[in-house]
Parts: sequence; C-alpha cells; structure tokens
Amino acid sequence: ATARLPRGRQFFANPGPTNIPDSILKAVAHVTIDFNDPAFLAVYDHCVAGLKRVLRTEQEVFLYTGSGHAAWEAALVNLFSPGDTLLVVETGYFSESWAKMAQDLGLKVRTIAADWRRGVDYAAIRAALAADGAHEIKAVCAVHNETATGMVLPLTEVRAALDAAGHPALLLADTISSLGSIDFRMDAWGVDVAVGGSQKGLMLPTGMSFTGVSAKAMAAHAGSRLPKSYFNWTNMLARRHKSFIGTVPTSLFYGLKESLRLLEEEGLDQVFTRHARLAEAVRRCVRHWSGNNGPQLFCLSPDRYSDSVTAILMPEGHDAEAVRRIALQTFNVSLGGGLGRLGGQVFRIGHLGDLNEPMILGTLSTVEVALRLAGVPHASGGVDAAIAYLAEAARGG
Ligand code: PLP
Repeated sequence: ATARLPRGRQFFANPGPTNIPDSILKAVAHVTIDFNDPAFLAVYDHCVAGLKRVLRTEQEVFLYTGSGHAAWEAALVNLFSPGDTLLVVETGYFSESWAKMAQDLGLKVRTIAADWRRGVDYAAIRAALAADGAHEIKAVCAVHNETATGMVLPLTEVRAALDAAGHPALLLADTISSLGSIDFRMDAWGVDVAVGGSQKGLMLPTGMSFTGVSAKAMAAHAGSRLPKSYFNWTNMLARRHKSFIGTVPTSLFYGLKESLRLLEEEGLDQVFTRHARLAEAVRRCVRHWSGNNGPQLFCLSPDRYSDSVTAILMPEGHDAEAVRRIALQTFNVSLGGGLGRLGGQVFRIGHLGDLNEPMILGTLSTVEVALRLAGVPHASGGVDAAIAYLAEAARGG
C-alpha cells in the first residue's frame, strides 16, 4: 500500500485523545481572560458543578493542569505516607503504570494478578483483603476501564469485596477512559478518589485532569506525609478556585462548559447507550473477521467488554503495526496501537466521545481494507455484521 497525501477529515479512532466536536473547538478558542475575572469565575463554578454531576459526586473535586498522570500522582501524594501499602488490581498496561508510579513515589505495592484477557477473579480481591487483618493495605487501586485491553473492571465488585472484608482501605478508581462514556457513580459506588482526564469522554483537548475526593479521603489526606506542593489539596483549598496552584487554563474551561452542555443535552444515560451500541457494532464486526483464523477480540470475558475501546488481537505471525500503518498512511484513519507487552500484537479501535454510526462504519470498513492489503487472514464482510446490528438497533430491536 502506498502512502497518500491526507485529504478529507481524518477518522480518528484512537481511544484517547478523542475527536473534539466543532462546537468545543470554537469554545476553546476564547480570548485570554484573567482567571479571577468575575465573568470567568462564573464559568469556572458552572464547570466544577457540572463535572461533579458527571462524576455523580457531591464531594470535593480538585483539578490539575496536566494529563491523567498528574491526577494519578495527585491522588497518591495527597493520601499516603512513605512505605504505605497499596493493593493494585491488575488489569493491563495502565494498572501496571499506576503501580510503578506508586513505587517511584516510595509506596509499597501488592498486586492482585489477573489474566489480561479474562480480567481479575473477584474472589482473589476478597481473599487479599480478608488476609490483611492488620489493615496494612491503605487503598485499593482499580482502573475502571483498561484502555490497553478494552476491558472494564466492575467497581461495584471491588467495593463489595472491601465491604465483605470490613476493610477500611480507600477505593481509588481510574475513570480516565470510562467517564462520560460508561456508567460511573462515584458516591453511590463508594469510590473515595475518582481520577479523570479531559481528552476522552469529555471530548476536550489534552491537558487537564481532576480527582473527585470523598470526605474519607480528605481525612486520610490530613495525615499523609508524602512530599507534595503543586498538587497539595490543602494548598488548593486556600485558593478562590479551590484547585490549580498557578494560572488556571481558562480555555479548557470554556471547552468544558460546552462539553457539559453537549453531554447533558443528550443525557448521560443516552450517551452511555450510544457508546454501548457503537461498541457492540465493532465487536460484531471483529467476531466476523475472526473467521478464517482472522483477528479476534482480545477480551475473552463478555461481561467485561469495554464500551469505549476494543482491542483486537492479531493472528500469530501478523504485525498489528503494519495494519495501523496502512490505515494511517494510505487512508488517514488513526487507530490505537498495542501498549507495553501487547505491542505489535493488538491494535485498538477507540469508540468513545463524539462519535456516530457513519464514523464507526467508516473506520471498520477501512480496517477491513487494511487487513486485506496487509495480507492478514480474515473472514471478509465484517462490516456487514456491524451494519445488520446497527440497523436492528435503530429499529429499536
Ligand atoms: N489511565 C488510563 C485508563 C488511561 O487510558 C490513560 C491514558 O490513556 C492514563 C491513565 C494516563 O493518562 P494520560 O495519558 O492523560 O496521562
């Protein structure tokens, strides 16, 4: 396949960052404004209140100028002391990365090992907590949606494991690729810290992240001794914005105001239904391709399918990067690659954010062309399976 000059709109099918709707692009292009200007403060307060509705929390929210990693770090340094132990539920590349960050910061990590394709066994979480009678574990860290594998981790199961053991550990949830795409309820699910970012379900540019923080987590913060300054929640609370040590990224708030308008105009439940529908269309297509020893769904547990991203496992001996290269260079479709140990073995289709049927069908059709050009075995016509499903769904079937 030959590279071509990109023309037309790029089909951006990465699982984050995601497509930014035109109305958000326009909103972000706001002239400079003093972040203490009353006109901006009104927008700011409106956005923080809206973000709490999306997180489904009535507790504190702290925001950071920085990508999701900043909010990961903020959560850790604000809650813990050197040598504290965390229990990390293994989901994939992102649970590993968060665990490594915790170790870099001087925390001890125990991992509940899990098969990346099947997901953790809830009994293993229950057993680890039950065995910790001395309550050495200060928190359980769970990635709600593992972006690298395309799998969800039902947080209610993690909460239930904590409750069953009567264990006082905090529950920290990474919602970076679930918030605004897959149902998440911080307060109802007893999540103590919810970590989120701007560039996925919220459809904003990268560069802002945040944490919802429960009263129980604020109490833990009061006793925490890890060094912190820029991320220190106590320092933040002393400021008018109750977040951001330094200049507030005002443009992102004009964008967030529009993002919240879009999400609430559609209704969060409808947003989740749309994601579930588009995700199922992708899965039907991939299942069809898997005939003739073709690529298959990486996730082997149907109850853990992610509705925001699908990871697709290549047949033995075929390189996912070759498919991605053809999709991008010949057809201007940007797919996600395999992360960490999955490099070259999987490619990922992001189906979150500002997305509709024609966009997903365009992406799936192009991936099928790329499979053909790359000489990857597959059952052709996967897109027909997606079309049949989407037609049925639109009829209300
Ligand atoms: N956690 C999850 C689940 C993610 O998908 C990502 C990024 O893709 C991160 C954390 C890291 O966030 P960022 O890349 O915004 O720093």
